[in-house]
Amino acid sequence: MKLFTVGPVEMYEKTLEVAGLQLPYFRTDEFSTVMLDIEQKLKDFTHSGVDSKAIVLTGSGSCAMEAVVNDALSSDERVLIINGGSFGQRFVKLCQIHNIPYDELKLSSNEVLTKEHFDVQHASRYGALLVNIHETSTGQLYNMKMISTFTKKHHISLIVDAISSFLADPYDMDAYGIDCTIISSQKALALAPGIAMIVMKDEFYQKRIEHKPITNLYLSIKEHVDNMKRGQTPNTPAVGIILELQARLHEIAIKGSDEEILRIKNRAEYFRSQLEKHPKIQVPNYPLSNALTPICFPDGGAQKRYQYLKDKYAIYVTPSGGELADHLLRIGHLGNLKNEDYDNLLSKLEEEM
Ligand SMILES: *Cc1c(COP(=O)(O)O)cnc(C)c1O
Repeated sequence: MKLFTVGPVEMYEKTLEVAGLQLPYFRTDEFSTVMLDIEQKLKDFTHSGVDSKAIVLTGSGSCAMEAVVNDALSSDERVLIINGGSFGQRFVKLCQIHNIPYDELKLSSNEVLTKEHFDVQHASRYGALLVNIHETSTGQLYNMKMISTFTKKHHISLIVDAISSFLADPYDMDAYGIDCTIISSQKALALAPGIAMIVMKDEFYQKRIEHKPITNLYLSIKEHVDNMKRGQTPNTPAVGIILELQARLHEIAIKGSDEEILRIKNRAEYFRSQLEKHPKIQVPNYPLSNALTPICFPDGGAQKRYQYLKDKYAIYVTPSGGELADHLLRIGHLGNLKNEDYDNLLSKLEEEM
């Protein structure tokens, strides 16, 4: 089996080793030390600065999205959502469910997010902006600097779902004034799905969350922050994935997170350069994340190619949904993959075509 998906992805040997171990009991000083080590490394890798905190929730990435919408936003203020695909749409749905007034910057398929989109009326009335910095459903990577210029100018809190971008693309909370970052375990971290992380600036936490009544105990950010002070979680966490996380962050820290991003970037560039030999496969011309390459088949056939690779070779690429289903496949660059894996993928794909 070979996964060119975006999550779960091919896991590293070390992760699989940790995943095979007996789990320890977790209300111990030893486990607290693990949690505090994780917090520090998450802060380092997101460049969130000393005045920030990180927590770990048990659940997939969407649970952290929901926790942030529920705890950091309120019906008293309006938010702006960049909606360029199914993950932007998830923020929209969450705001609807939690009664958060919102407006959308809605992009059609293939539409690039540009400065002109931010010529919005009365921008200062927005309390927060929600964005999936890499909209995984299309592969578009939004321009962080452009978004940040807008939120800084109008004093808008910037909340970023970096789930499929963290450790794949450069990311810097301090440089771009990002107040809150959402991460999950099964993307570039290449761990089992099941934990999500939130990194926040202290000011964001104090202003938006700390004083608010708790309305959802399991997802309460405040409960998690209070427990994290001693390296604990309010409930039994996914202990095994947390241990995978610590081991993985430790490995990445040896060479630094920039090195990890560079590895994924090189892999994405290698694959894209090889595509030049296959003129029938097209790549959209919006800015791309290093996490994946969307490949288009203008005449259709994406679905049968997905099936062919899966059924004949146990090669899994990422299919698309909705109107893109027969025209777009997404080729992941996260996890334990090598350039040879892409050579093999392309030759099998060529065979089908
Ligand atoms: C994967 C992903 C999520 C989280 O999805 P889950 O299935 O809940 O883990 C959220 N946002 C983006 C941009 C993603 O790529």
